Amino acid sequence: MLISNYDIRLFYRCPMLFYLSKFGPEQEKDVHPILGRSRDRSKYHITSEEEIREKAEQTKARMIQGKSQISQGWILAENLTSRVDRLKKIDLEGSFGSYSYIPILLRNVKYLRKPIIMEGVYAAYVCSLFQEANIDYFQIYRNNEYETHSTENLIDELKEDIVKIDKILAGELKISPNYTRSCRVCEWRKYCKKLVADSLDVTLISGIGKRIKKLLLDYGITDVPSLAQVDLNDLKMENVSRKELEYLVLQAQSLVDKKEKIRGQVDFPSSSYELYVDIEGSSHHNFVWIIGCLLRKGTEHRYLHFLAESPQKEEQMFRSFLKFLEELNGNYTLYHWSLAEPQYFQNLASKYSIKSKRIVELIHSSFDLFPVFKNKIILPVYTYTLKDVANWLGFEWFDPLVDGATSIILFDKWYFHNDREALEKAISYNSDDCKALLIIKDYLSKKISQ
Ligand code: SF4
Repeated sequence: MLISNYDIRLFYRCPMLFYLSKFGPEQEKDVHPILGRSRDRSKYHITSEEEIREKAEQTKARMIQGKSQISQGWILAENLTSRVDRLKKIDLEGSFGSYSYIPILLRNVKYLRKPIIMEGVYAAYVCSLFQEANIDYFQIYRNNEYETHSTENLIDELKEDIVKIDKILAGELKISPNYTRSCRVCEWRKYCKKLVADSLDVTLISGIGKRIKKLLLDYGITDVPSLAQVDLNDLKMENVSRKELEYLVLQAQSLVDKKEKIRGQVDFPSSSYELYVDIEGSSHHNFVWIIGCLLRKGTEHRYLHFLAESPQKEEQMFRSFLKFLEELNGNYTLYHWSLAEPQYFQNLASKYSIKSKRIVELIHSSFDLFPVFKNKIILPVYTYTLKDVANWLGFEWFDPLVDGATSIILFDKWYFHNDREALEKAISYNSDDCKALLIIKDYLSKKISQ
């Protein structure tokens, strides 16, 4: 069966995703309500092998003519095929004479992740076979620049993986899911979660990915119950500390017992006001569009949000937030989830050259609830996202379909298409995030506060 560059990209995104794209039960797919629409992959699908052979012949004909560049050319060698954004003529001996073609990928992306790099290595490899030339590099065109990448360090890995892909396609190799944070936006997330939960695979445990799974396999540990029973003195793994192993075993025990595991106490600051803050940024224009804040004093609480409807209003929004803080006279603690919030504050302060003592106070008064989990308390959850932790505590979002990723898209829908309903949905999601922080803080206060 043919292997395409699209298959390679999928395989390096997730081998299970590739496997399911070929053999997955379609009825189990659950396309993300908002992200799904922007991920239409049908244009990459190969219609038939015959069609590919014809297209590869056309590309070959253009190569024989010696065109300096070929756009959207198809190359084919053995059972490997690739559609290449651009093929560029270079001086290098090959089957067409004194010249050959190197592949260029056009990618409008900020970060170059492994699937794209491997797609380039693959395109160069197929180019080598197609032209009987030694093509050991490829180029990526992004941000108006050409970047040259050597295939040297990755070509062996690619060849080994092509053998695996062949076996998957022949039905000789089955793949099981590695459930991670990035699965949350995958159309197979529910199916994989069910498979993983049924198999009690070790990757259920937050912190176990492919590498640790492989190391545990050397000890015959493949599922959560066997990890829960392990004697730590029997486990020794390269590049995995005892502290890390201890955490993984406790996490396994928590999942088996369906109970939290307490590891230590937390000292929460005492202040008159508590702020539960969640910030969202726009991915396209690199600006913060909302600072959401649930303010609690005693038993009273209310939600406020500071909104920037365009990048030009970001400074004003941040200054309004600082002004609001002034009313609290420094007597507050600002609870948040992960390092993003203090980072946002620092970036905004430096972007607008704000040197107010409020900034120092703000950073000093911030309390990240995320590291408390792992260091002080372990829950029987698969991942420690704000949503998973709060859900376990019984908190439900008003709209369970919305999440952090969709909230960005909701904002963009409003920003680009003036969709007011989408904006209100995104604000409502932000307000639920703030409430979730409060629920979590109260739970921790009850369970492990000194
Ligand atoms: S849910 Fe996760 S493991 Fe399953 S296919 Fe998607 S990315 Fe891969």
